[in-house]
Amino acid sequence: MKIDLNKVLEEPFHWEETAAVDAATLGCPELLEVGPVHWRGSVEPTTGGFVLRGRFDYEQTVACPRCMEPTTEPVDGEVGLIVVVERSQPTAGEYELRGDDLNTLVLPGEELDTEPILREQLQLNVPMRLLCREDCQGLCPVCGKNRNHETCGCTEQRSDPRWAALAALRGDLRNEE
Ligand SMILES: [Zn+2]
Ligand SMILES: [Zn+2]
Repeated sequence: MKIDLNKVLEEPFHWEETAAVDAATLGCPELLEVGPVHWRGSVEPTTGGFVLRGRFDYEQTVACPRCMEPTTEPVDGEVGLIVVVERSQPTAGEYELRGDDLNTLVLPGEELDTEPILREQLQLNVPMRLLCREDCQGLCPVCGKNRNHETCGCTEQRSDPRWAALAALRGDLRNEE
């Protein structure tokens, strides 16, 4: 949503929209899908600039890092920014955040686009490790089957026959004692 800050000077602006975001464009490979994003907020004038407050909620689908199975979870959050207009800014048109106590967004003109702000929030809300369940068994390293759904019997094959011989020998020794 593009907001004309000149109009905000006259009266505070409120928006509410359902945004469709293509997960593939967010640069997070583990993020498979982003549902429609309910995104609303306001922009109001303040001393030397504007205050933006936004809230969002949606569902995201992320690949389980162990078994690659898709997992969907609800996300909601909020964002607050100070917006200032600086025409002398060398990187005109660029989206720039200054990190102080309150994040400041510097714009080269009076047009405020809420889309990059939302996209950044979606990126920040991609979980580092979202397991499909706490005790996810993952994929079998031998045959690649999903161990949550089937047992493949590969673990038995992994035990070395030489160890079995040794165990038998130990058993013999114990019997002689
Ligand atoms: Zn899993
Ligand atoms: Zn296996």
